[in-house]
Amino acid sequence: MAVTESVPAAPTTTHEGVLRRQSARESAARTYARSLPIVPVRARGLTIEGADGRRYLDCLSGAGTLALGHNHPVVLDAIRTVLDSEAPLHVLDLATPVKDAFVTELFRSLPGDLASRARVQFCGPAGTDAVEAALKLVRRATGRQTVLTFTGAYHGMSAGALDVSGGATEMRAARLPYPQDYRCPFGIGGESGATLASRLAESYLTDPKSGIPDPAGMILEPVQGEGGVHPAPDSWLRRMRELTREHGIPLIADEVQTGVGRTGAFWAVEHSGVVPDVMVLSKAIGGSLPLAVIVYHEDLDVWEPGAHAGTFRGNQLAMAAGTATLAYVREHGLARRAADLGARMLGHLRALAVAYPWVGDVRGRGLMLGVELVDPDGARSEPSAPPPAAPLRAAAVRRECLRRGLIVELGGRHSAVVRLLPPLTITDEQASAVLDRFAEALAAVHRDLPV
Ligand code: PMP
Repeated sequence: MAVTESVPAAPTTTHEGVLRRQSARESAARTYARSLPIVPVRARGLTIEGADGRRYLDCLSGAGTLALGHNHPVVLDAIRTVLDSEAPLHVLDLATPVKDAFVTELFRSLPGDLASRARVQFCGPAGTDAVEAALKLVRRATGRQTVLTFTGAYHGMSAGALDVSGGATEMRAARLPYPQDYRCPFGIGGESGATLASRLAESYLTDPKSGIPDPAGMILEPVQGEGGVHPAPDSWLRRMRELTREHGIPLIADEVQTGVGRTGAFWAVEHSGVVPDVMVLSKAIGGSLPLAVIVYHEDLDVWEPGAHAGTFRGNQLAMAAGTATLAYVREHGLARRAADLGARMLGHLRALAVAYPWVGDVRGRGLMLGVELVDPDGARSEPSAPPPAAPLRAAAVRRECLRRGLIVELGGRHSAVVRLLPPLTITDEQASAVLDRFAEALAAVHRDLPV
């Protein structure tokens, strides 16, 4: 297959006008639109075509949503089939054959023996809605309030929604250190750093004077995405499972970004063999359309009817697109493919990094890759500490990527991690093109650095 799929040419006249009107009319909270001044008009697979007629390789993939890339034929067929069947498009949370098929396919994929005793709750359509639902569920089930969470975590933007609603309970969370190698809070990284992170968690849970009330749950990302692409060590995740089980704390895995093959396993918790009590799912499960659910152990199903309602919980097109996506990833072994190709891309990126002292770290799991940029001459807290993060360099790399027709994302605590989240369907040839463009972008930024 060609590096950029053949997409018919688009007229160029709309580009400037659309961008101008967007910046005049849309909120100052615009995000991607600021760093990616493109006007997508057509897309297929890895490729987006802008109204300016340019083609881009899209390694942002709707912030990790597009497991099969843009407009995959099985997704389009699934959507067309629903449209042509005259099935109702809006059904609240009623049962439909489309939903039935989605739940069947979803349950088929669940880790361990979760499916045999699982319940699914369809939430509002965004990942953050499912996070809210999960927090509410464990608070209701345990009668406790505090949720254990981790430094660098990202779970969505609606954390305040409950706090400003009638009948709100105060949002309370206690933060534990998430293990990370490069900027390990204990200064050692690796298994030893992860062990210390586990010990700290254990001591918080067992010390009656830790100041942390008995928790309602623990929520974690098996690989932190927005936090800067930090894969949790499997041993640490297993320890979190043991600790939460020992202390009767529901473990919530937020797989909004890591799910559906992205990290090289269908669900990222499978790397460690951990089966959580609650899984928070969105992004890829809707096959590019909005869909979010929580899947949880039936013992937690203590909700009264209507305890978590919402108008938009029955998106039939998203369920059909999601069923097609889940089935395609399963049938085509795309998790395995993400593991293999991701490992190769990681190797290439690490080899590239050797030439540049301002590439501090390259890490990832599967097709969730991150390159952390630093200022090697910047002041360090101590000689062995990593150099300070370099967000301006990361922004420059993103800009140079875009100039070369490559769309990448920034993340991390300091927005200094360049992230690659290509679709799982990316070919070897396309992956090489991505790496070539990325290498050229690094070289261009390097040339412009002050000597
Ligand atoms: N959880 C994780 C791990 C995420 O990465 C995100 C979004 N990037 C969310 C939750 C929130 O999802 P949404 O943006 O759909 O609300």
